[in-house]
Amino acid sequence: MERSQELFDRAQKVLPGGVNSPVRAFRAVELCPRFIERADGAYIYDADGKHYIDYVCSWGPMLLGHNHPAVREAVERAVKDGLSFGAPTQREVEMAELMVEMVPNIEMVRMVNSGTEAVMSALRLARGATGRDKLIKFEGCYHGHSDCLLVNAGSSALAGGHPSSAGVPEDIVKHTLTAQYNDLASVEVLLEEYHGQVACVIVEPVAANMGVVGPAPGFLEGLRALCDKHGALLIFDEVQCGMGRSGKLFAYQKFDVMPDICTAAKALGGGFPIGALMEQVAPCGPVYQAGTLSGNPVAMAAGLAQLRYIQAHPEVYAALEKYAKELAEGMRRAAAKHGAGVAVNQIGSLVAPFFTPSAVTTFLDAKGSDVGRYARYFKGMLERGVYLAPAQFEAMFVSTAHTREDLECTLEAVDEVFAEG
Ligand code: PMP
Repeated sequence: MERSQELFDRAQKVLPGGVNSPVRAFRAVELCPRFIERADGAYIYDADGKHYIDYVCSWGPMLLGHNHPAVREAVERAVKDGLSFGAPTQREVEMAELMVEMVPNIEMVRMVNSGTEAVMSALRLARGATGRDKLIKFEGCYHGHSDCLLVNAGSSALAGGHPSSAGVPEDIVKHTLTAQYNDLASVEVLLEEYHGQVACVIVEPVAANMGVVGPAPGFLEGLRALCDKHGALLIFDEVQCGMGRSGKLFAYQKFDVMPDICTAAKALGGGFPIGALMEQVAPCGPVYQAGTLSGNPVAMAAGLAQLRYIQAHPEVYAALEKYAKELAEGMRRAAAKHGAGVAVNQIGSLVAPFFTPSAVTTFLDAKGSDVGRYARYFKGMLERGVYLAPAQFEAMFVSTAHTREDLECTLEAVDEVFAEG
């Protein structure tokens, strides 16, 4: 801990809160963040010589584990040729072709630099295409930190107790309407009230920024039907649940509901900052979207290598899901054994425990989790060498590098921590 503490002390003098993204500061669990030196397979190694089984996986991208040779070697090859050109490259074409090939409904891809950028651009596209201004989002869903989406947001915006943000003008969020996830009636009311004004409904098809909450049967189908009825576009934000996390490449394939626009990022770049926006934008269409580093050759190399690997090894999804299922079941068993009052949700390779005795199917249920208990659970697991999301309203991510031994170690730790109450 000494070295991490020392680095954190230094960091706080020159970086706001000592970090470059709030959740990393460990404030929700009131601990000093571990400074990470390197990662390999299922493990991350901190500056104090400790290592942990990693269930953050860079918040999703490390589907194949850290430092996977196929991805690393592709990146090393790309780096030798230069880091960025601001000009088109063959890899971008191959990447887009591969996505179109792997997912039948994808027609076009626009590469961007982050999930925030992907969603922000998708919104502009939806507004440009419909000529309407309003959007409907869901309480507890997080879509990055662009102004008009920082309203009733999930993820660390939630854990930090700031569902919105200072610096976002009322005038900008007046077009943002908020509905309840898994409650179609709450969407219908808004679409009726603002008839003809709603450009789009944006949703995480698997809500993974309020812990993990899956769509109730008929919810996504209902959203599709409501959007069609009201001439609104349906955007699936798959930055968190897409790219193999839900059990298929995209959640919309798993649930068989087609959005009009789908956003992805993270694993698309194998951990590099890229995102995708599937539609026709400038220079073909009237919706402006651009980026100096978009389609960056190193990011493309990583994304391509990871996608190619998944294409060649489709069994990856089943392996991830099997591990996640066994993890969730083991956690439920430990909770029952110790009367811990914990509900565990799992979809694909996403898992989340909630410290509440009843099932969690809505944002309201999720908010009922005892975050103080989550903090104690986090600390207990960290002490036993298991690195989890340092906040309740996040997911656990598993990778193909996690082994049976890792699973057993994790469940042993869970058993001990739940036994402590
Ligand atoms: N959308 C969703 C669903 C997300 O989970 C996130 C980040 N976790 C974002 C958008 C923003 O992505 P980024 O942090 O890459 O900007």
